[in-house]
Amino acid sequence: MTQDIVGRANNEGAALFREWFDGLTSTAEQGGRGAYVFVMGSMAELLRVFDLPVIFPEINSLQTAVRKVAHEYLNQAEDYGYSPDICGYVKADVAVQLRGGQHPMGRIPNPAIAVLTNACNTYIKWAEIWERMYHVPVFTLDIPGTRAAGTQTWPGDRDFSNDRDYVLSQIKELIFLCEQITGRKFDIDKLREALLHANTMSRGWKRVLELNKNRPSLFNAVTDGTIYLGVSNAFRGTEKGARYFEDLVEEMEYKATHGIGTLVNERHRLIFVGVPCYPIFRRFNELFSEWGGTFVNSTYLWFAAGGANRGFEYDLADPIESLAEGTLITVRDAMDSMFYQDQALAEMIGPFHVDGVVYHPIKSCRTVSTGLADNRRALMASRDVATLFIESDMMDRRVVSEAQLKNRVDAFFEGLNSRRMAATR
Ligand code: SF4
Repeated sequence: MTQDIVGRANNEGAALFREWFDGLTSTAEQGGRGAYVFVMGSMAELLRVFDLPVIFPEINSLQTAVRKVAHEYLNQAEDYGYSPDICGYVKADVAVQLRGGQHPMGRIPNPAIAVLTNACNTYIKWAEIWERMYHVPVFTLDIPGTRAAGTQTWPGDRDFSNDRDYVLSQIKELIFLCEQITGRKFDIDKLREALLHANTMSRGWKRVLELNKNRPSLFNAVTDGTIYLGVSNAFRGTEKGARYFEDLVEEMEYKATHGIGTLVNERHRLIFVGVPCYPIFRRFNELFSEWGGTFVNSTYLWFAAGGANRGFEYDLADPIESLAEGTLITVRDAMDSMFYQDQALAEMIGPFHVDGVVYHPIKSCRTVSTGLADNRRALMASRDVATLFIESDMMDRRVVSEAQLKNRVDAFFEGLNSRRMAATR
């Protein structure tokens, strides 16, 4: 039993991802097109109603870094004229487009439409590139964000109702646009089915994150968590995605019951804040695991899941209205996880038995990185917790210095060990 279930989600996640890229490749080779979307507010549930393949350029780009070829793509985009300063995901995607969709995992189809939210300002400028290249419609869903930390409104509040209605009217426009592009009629039952699967996935995602309060922790939020996250985005609203998350919950509950941790010798429980260092993804994690450190949670698993961490479930009796409500709640939460995460982190330190918080601002994502230094200060003022602040990048290996990172990480763990000794004296 143990060998059948432990590690299953990682294997199945990798297989699903290969299958997904194979599907994109065959769409591209047959001249088909898809919907270019983003992880924060992908609207995948709705786009599936029109059988539009959903394509996540952010995921395509990070895969070039994981596969150690991002520099080739970045150089091509920079030679073409894009500045070294801008988001590395944009530049890798530009190079993919310049290569006719050629990608280390297969071939990426051209877009028929781009759908984005205002969760990141780069989304808006990025989509303009596709608009110029392909002359396709670009639909920007404007989600009212939180005006200040802790001021979110919720169902029952008048401001919330106004915001939900505003999102609802935009979703109706998007439905109309999808009908025009695909020539298909909107089918509300198909939407219901996608929402049903998305509900299973959101429920599972929330549960999996909570289960990692377990000691020892059941999965590593940076390494394993990124695989789950990929499935959560790419298979959102599908039966395969729903089944994957049911299996994942089963695996984590099994591990919890049998005391099977992600590390044999867990010594330090950490939270990761920011975007992972994909150019040295495995090695980056080893810098921590070699000291017995493991990541029990991560803000990345919140915002890059588009707020699925909230476990929001759609009301199938009222699908379009509920889609508007869910989109408002989850995309807003994704933004809050980037901009106002200090309170959420402070509340996790006790229940997740956290020893340290690792902040990882990166050169090419200012949306996530701006303000992290202030957030760290705010957290340290409210909790007695060790923190580490290390800078690198999620794409560009020119600004990733493994030796420097190691020095900082080693010093952090020496400090953690001293704290622990002092506490036991
Ligand atoms: S700036 Fe950051 S959040 Fe925005 S697209 Fe780039 S990586 Fe994503």
